[in-house]
Amino acid sequence: MQVLKDKIQAEGVVIQNSLLKVDSFLNHQLDPELMMKLGEEFALRFKNNKVTKVLTIESSGIAVAIMVGLALKVPVVFARKKKSAVCNDEVYSTTVYSFTKKESNYVTVSKELLATGENVMIIDDFLANGEAALGLTHIVEQAGANVVGIGIVIEKSFQPGAEKLKSAGYRVESLVRIKSFSNGQVNYV
Ligand code: 5GP
Repeated sequence: MQVLKDKIQAEGVVIQNSLLKVDSFLNHQLDPELMMKLGEEFALRFKNNKVTKVLTIESSGIAVAIMVGLALKVPVVFARKKKSAVCNDEVYSTTVYSFTKKESNYVTVSKELLATGENVMIIDDFLANGEAALGLTHIVEQAGANVVGIGIVIEKSFQPGAEKLKSAGYRVESLVRIKSFSNGQVNYV
């Protein structure tokens, strides 16, 4: 997706040839117009899949996920990493190891928000080792719902996440796919 590549070129910062910092438009400050375009692109790719719910994980997936939900006219749920004081509901849960924070998070979704038979589209900002996306598929499966696909804003194809998800049978749609970083530059697949 060219508009996203242009934004990465203009504002992305490569860190130690392994991480891409995109705090100015995706991970800290948010560019609403760009978020809307990303959401519309995902919605277009999944328009024939009868999506009933968008599922993401807090916090960086939420901005894009809500735009997908708006475009598809379906609700958006985010998996929580911290226990909520007002949530005494029964929950689906899994453990996700965070690539960037190097820690495990116990993540939950209230059972009230995910019903058996739903068609769920999973959204996340980055795909690296696939831990976050796989964790979300486990939650969907606990609910007896279907994963119609996994939408990723930035796939780092040199890490094993995409292959892992595809070999588990999931459809992965990434808006840009990074082959490598070299000398602070981003090289696409
Ligand atoms: P995974 O679970 O696929 O190993 O890693 C994906 C998660 O780690 C994403 O939700 C994202 O928050 C974070 N992440 C992985 N790689 C990067 C990166 O290069 N840049 C940023 N900003 N976040 C990343």
